[in-house]
Amino acid sequence: MENSTNQYLLLTPGPLTTTRTVREAMLKDWCTWDDDYNKEIVEVIRTKLVTLATHHQGYTSVLMQGSGSASVEATIGTVMPANGKLLVINNGAYGQRIGQIAQYLKIDHHVIELSEVEQPDLEHIAALLDSDSTITHVAMVHCETTTGMLNPIEAVCKLVKSRNKIMILDAMSSFGGIPMDLGELGVDFMISSANKCIQGVPGFGFVIAKTDELLKCQGQARSLSLDLYDQWDCMEKNHGKWRFTSPTHTVRAFYQAMLELEQEGGVAARYQRYVTNQRILVEGMETLGFRCLLPQSLHSPIITSFYSPSDTDYDFKHFYSLLKAQGFVIYPGKVSNADCFRIGNIGDVHNDDIYRLIDAIRRTMFWQKAAS
Ligand SMILES: *Cc1c(COP(=O)(O)O)cnc(C)c1O
Repeated sequence: MENSTNQYLLLTPGPLTTTRTVREAMLKDWCTWDDDYNKEIVEVIRTKLVTLATHHQGYTSVLMQGSGSASVEATIGTVMPANGKLLVINNGAYGQRIGQIAQYLKIDHHVIELSEVEQPDLEHIAALLDSDSTITHVAMVHCETTTGMLNPIEAVCKLVKSRNKIMILDAMSSFGGIPMDLGELGVDFMISSANKCIQGVPGFGFVIAKTDELLKCQGQARSLSLDLYDQWDCMEKNHGKWRFTSPTHTVRAFYQAMLELEQEGGVAARYQRYVTNQRILVEGMETLGFRCLLPQSLHSPIITSFYSPSDTDYDFKHFYSLLKAQGFVIYPGKVSNADCFRIGNIGDVHNDDIYRLIDAIRRTMFWQKAAS
């Protein structure tokens, strides 16, 4: 197994299983003001990210230290003008987090509260945009990692652009794993991070922005460290230099991960692998008697939620540790009103890994039954 230096396969939505070569890319130290780091690594990453994101001109990228949420917070805190109002579409924990960020930063906002298994209602969004002219920006999550649900970005972006609002998309868990073109969609700011579908290690996030819109954000940030505009400006003026300490090893590993994405055949090929992983997973799990939380039509190929077995002898912690002992780490559920667990397909996880996982789950269920 290529990942033999790992003690288990992470079937989680990030940090996820990386290749040995991505991990090995971290074995050198880099100088943060030398060209060999800034020009040859950071700037190359920034350009490659924009190319991955859209075929349209007029887009740029910024990298930002921290977890993915730090980049969401940097974006919301920088792009919202003092008199702006944010409409948040919330159908899961990550949509909710955007609302929370607006609240912390004292940004005027309205949250459309949906259940975690509900899709956004276009007519409702249109009615809100039409009745409240103070709304300037709309934020939504693409793949809601809470459940694995894929939100209808095309329809929502089209609606938002038809009302001339700024569109902010949290595509944290889908960018690089699901084909999308931000220019075609009309997304103004898209946020993702190093440890999701690009398959890097954790440590920073990144934002792909419409350059014209980012240029309007100078001086708006509510935090120095999370000033997205200033970070971009510094990178632009100094050939990829980060304002404050940059996570050099993580960045170098990300560069390697981007090369490996190209070697795999780009986003389309990676998407196919994830889709096939998910299909094998759902078929196998259904054969074992598990049921998915969502109908197949709402599934993303990123992560899938399954109802916990109703047997009284089932216990997630125990199930988890028996699987871990066999080399598989799964993810607890995050849905508030249903008892679930989740299995991710992203990372350096291949079709035969999923077949092995299904076998391990079959064995685990047998052991649990036998012990009860
Ligand atoms: C992973 C993720 C985030 C960010 O999570 P961090 O733990 O802050 O890295 C945000 N939104 C979505 C949809 C995610 O999947």
